[in-house]
Amino acid sequence: MARGEYQDRIGRLLPGKTLWVAIAVMSCAAVALLHTIFSSINPNASIAKTGLVETVEMTTAIARSFPMNFDVPKNFQAKTIKDAPVGAEKVIALTFDDGPWPETTEKILATLKQEQIKATFYMIGQPLKSFPEIGKKVLADGHVIANHTLHHWYKQMSPLVAQREIEDTSKIIKEVLNVETAYFRPPGGMLTNGLVAYALKHNQSVNMWSVDSGDSNPRRPSSEAILKTVLNGATPGGIVLMHDGGGSHNNTAIAVPQIIAQLRAQGYKFVTVPELLELSSAFSEPPIAKTTSESIDRRS
Ligand SMILES: [Zn+2]
Repeated sequence: MARGEYQDRIGRLLPGKTLWVAIAVMSCAAVALLHTIFSSINPNASIAKTGLVETVEMTTAIARSFPMNFDVPKNFQAKTIKDAPVGAEKVIALTFDDGPWPETTEKILATLKQEQIKATFYMIGQPLKSFPEIGKKVLADGHVIANHTLHHWYKQMSPLVAQREIEDTSKIIKEVLNVETAYFRPPGGMLTNGLVAYALKHNQSVNMWSVDSGDSNPRRPSSEAILKTVLNGATPGGIVLMHDGGGSHNNTAIAVPQIIAQLRAQGYKFVTVPELLELSSAFSEPPIAKTTSESIDRRS
């Protein structure tokens, strides 16, 4: 077959240039659409992993439509931590307990929003039930939700009561926020009253702290005292304990902007606890895997 004849036949069989362009455009559009659908199915999974929270503004509508999972990196599951090794990298996690609570939580949220910082909120089941709209705002602003039990009991608990304290709170968090979280903080930092045993048994991450701001002291230290305590205790990879609930914590709300400004001046960046654990996982992963595969390659 002469070359010209061949091209004529092929020309009749194949679509024209315009059609090819149209097919290419439609394929790109289909890929883009599929990407949008799949990436929106569980927006938070990627947020927790990649630290994209800085740019994401969650809406309550999205929160209602899609369940969010705050998962724990594998090497931190079923572990109790008070900080996470990140070398000299100046990152630190601000955490707030016992909320959501009228006024204080909202004041702290306003500061965090203004400073474009994400934090971790350890919520108690009872106030979340009482103030669901404040809880939703915490989530809508892109912060991490964690479990801090139903009643905030310190007493010794049977396995069944410990289970109820944690699981009933999980249920409220799911009902109100459509969130599932594997991050847990025992009230009062009590490690042996049954709660932590249950959380660890279920592969949760038990989060203590490396700096106690002292703001839960019934005498309610001044904002200056809270600031000083946090600055003195701040370390790379640290976790700062503060309170937005369990009573008025106005001094904490006043101290937070100062804490942020002064730690920033020292070069600190602020991360959520899941982000801290992701960073720490990357930091502590030894380069052994690579070396091993290289040596296997050489042998083969
Ligand atoms: Zn507490």
